[in-house]
Amino acid sequence: MSDIDTHTEGGTGSADVDAVVIGAGFSGLYMLHRLRELGLSVRVFEKGDGVGGTWYWNRYPGARCDSESHIYCYSFAEELHEDWEWSERYPEQPEILAYLQFVADRLDLRRDIEFETEVTSATYDESSSTWTVETADGERVSTRFFITAVGCLSKPFRPDFDGLDDFEGEWYHTARWPDEEIDFGDDHVGVIGTGSTGIQFISEVGGRADHLTVFQRTPNYAVPARNRPLGDEEYADIRANYDDIWERARDSRLGMPFDWEQHTAFNLSDEEIEEVLEERWQQGGFRFLHAFEPGYILSNAEINETISEFIREKIREKVDDPETAEKLVPTDHPYGSKRPPMDYNDYYGTYNRDDVTLVDVDEAPIEAFTPDGIRTADDHYDLDTVVFATGFDAMTGALLAIDIEGRDGQTLEAKWEAGPRTYLGLGIHGFPNLFTITGPQSPSVLTNMPMAIEQHVEWIADCIAYMDEQGYDRIEATEDAETQWVQNTNMLAENMLFSEAKSWYRGANVPGKTQVFTPFPGGLDNYREICDRVAGDDYDGFELDRVDDAPTVEGR
Ligand SMILES: Cc1cc2nc3c(=O)[nH]c(=O)nc-3n(C[C@H](O)[C@H](O)[C@H](O)COP(=O)(O)OP(=O)(O)OC[C@H]3O[C@@H](n4cnc5c(N)ncnc54)[C@H](O)[C@@H]3O)c2cc1C
Repeated sequence: MSDIDTHTEGGTGSADVDAVVIGAGFSGLYMLHRLRELGLSVRVFEKGDGVGGTWYWNRYPGARCDSESHIYCYSFAEELHEDWEWSERYPEQPEILAYLQFVADRLDLRRDIEFETEVTSATYDESSSTWTVETADGERVSTRFFITAVGCLSKPFRPDFDGLDDFEGEWYHTARWPDEEIDFGDDHVGVIGTGSTGIQFISEVGGRADHLTVFQRTPNYAVPARNRPLGDEEYADIRANYDDIWERARDSRLGMPFDWEQHTAFNLSDEEIEEVLEERWQQGGFRFLHAFEPGYILSNAEINETISEFIREKIREKVDDPETAEKLVPTDHPYGSKRPPMDYNDYYGTYNRDDVTLVDVDEAPIEAFTPDGIRTADDHYDLDTVVFATGFDAMTGALLAIDIEGRDGQTLEAKWEAGPRTYLGLGIHGFPNLFTITGPQSPSVLTNMPMAIEQHVEWIADCIAYMDEQGYDRIEATEDAETQWVQNTNMLAENMLFSEAKSWYRGANVPGKTQVFTPFPGGLDNYREICDRVAGDDYDGFELDRVDDAPTVEGR
């Protein structure tokens, strides 16, 4: 039973549960746990047949997290750190999936999750302030709170090439990889896309296929990850310092506990800057993005160009053929203005192999698939297998795939026609009692995501607890607060170098999608402070009230 007074007097309606949560990745699992701790009844719906979200779906060869393992996990429960040990600095997909399975078992979460169940629609009823959530197999569940944990990167995007249906080989999307080993041994494999995933896949499969042809539209700045096993001593040190590590990660711009060079680059000579960058290059991974304060790197064009040029030179050094090297050198966007990829396995060196070919599809675009392969504007490539590493309809795709209808019959799709609009990325005007974990205009993908996810989950749980304590049935972001928040996010992005890249952060990878910079770029630390202030101020910017026909929840 709940230890919270639920406001039920006077209401004649009823709801099946207190909360429906969609998704069983990092977000959905923790949300379920927190709501259960409040004594609320919860049902979680998950499309996949297991927990894990991103790490359930992305099983392609080379899939790993770019965040360091010791911070790519939950911080909320010490017992989870005590009984789990990461093997590497950047673990592979099976290990991260195993971690999330371990958490689900340890917290006994599975009994409230319905797997292989896709939510197709959710409709708000104003008189009772409840949502009715409908699944693909026609089940309808009514709930007081509707919480999306559907992921920023969970709806795969595949370009619509002519002729794919006639292609006689096999094709795969990295985000829907089958749960089985694929032997590329004698195959001519083509891979489309050179973002973070493409880079992981290419360096893993280069040399394992008879021939690998890489179709690249834009090159990226891949920084060496410097992966290695985590030794006992190092791990003991991490465990002994976890409190401090989490505190620093929570209080940082990117949700990572890394220090940076305390000078701004203005105060350093060219040689000193080079030294700082070289040292960070050797440390690898996201520590490189912390060479100087990351907000400074992402907003100061001059230092950014110095860093970008530093990486360009590194690429040139690694690639033997100068023409290929120039194709791999990014010049169309500043470093960090797109998701910075990591190099685990000598990505650039892969192009020195005779059995790997780089095709610049910016120069000669893909025209169509043929039965035997891919035809570009100036050639034909014979292929047995094609891999789409073409990413996601990011940030909004999974939300808009659900037919969400709020107050006054307004759909989310209509409301977001010109781009997403939220208050804090958590609430949406016109859509009461809907919370969006890592929603648009929250820090989400610009951070080490478990940190951003925990902050959202805890804020939402506290908000629901507050509503129940105060006897409120309904919460809705005001139009003014939402407008100001959207303007604030846009203004911050315009003042940073993000505006100079055609990135998935702004929907540029999906033809026809409205291009708006979507994550909040002001830093997780600042964002957390804003959210705490809003909550401390009785949820400033939200309207809270009671409704006459408030529901009782059956069986609670
Ligand atoms: C290859 C890859 C590598 C990444 N590496 C990192 C990294 O190094 N560091 C980092 O911080 N982040 C990384 N990310 C981002 C990653 O998505 C997040 O870190 C985190 O896993 C997100 O968790 P989530 O629970 O919010 O969403 P997800 O893990 O995406 O889970 C969402 C779940 O919702 C389900 N779902 C969606 N719609 C519906 C529906 N209508 N009905 C039912 N179920 C639905 C999906 O099936 C999915 O299981 C990476 C992402 C990818 C794709």
